[in-house]
Amino acid sequence: MTAPRDRYHKMLNTTRWRKLRALHLARHPFCADCAAEGVVTPATEVHHIRPVSIERDPARMERLAFDAGNLAGLCHACHVKRHERMGKGTAEENARRQRAEADLFARRFYGTQTPGGCFSATGAPS
Ligand SMILES: [Zn+2]
Repeated sequence: MTAPRDRYHKMLNTTRWRKLRALHLARHPFCADCAAEGVVTPATEVHHIRPVSIERDPARMERLAFDAGNLAGLCHACHVKRHERMGKGTAEENARRQRAEADLFARRFYGTQTPGGCFSATGAPS
């Protein structure tokens, strides 16, 4: 039986992952954590907000690995910082924090904007 970590690393070696990763960086070209601090830094790495290797079931792992909503584009420094934070504390604490981070991320990027809010003032002469 393959360990979740090994299975995860295999997933990262697939064309499917490379394509999704490239697509995510194209759509989210700036580091999400730097942006939260008001700093514009190119995103060069794609982080799994909820770690794929915490799942035991291969199908669930695959779902997490390729879920676009579970990805965050980060610069290298912020990616390292996230993993350092993840390395501390118990699995339960980590899971709780990752849920909170995912919620915050979703609220920040999807929750507070009204549809068309950014574009309604442009063009369209009446
Ligand atoms: Zn950053």
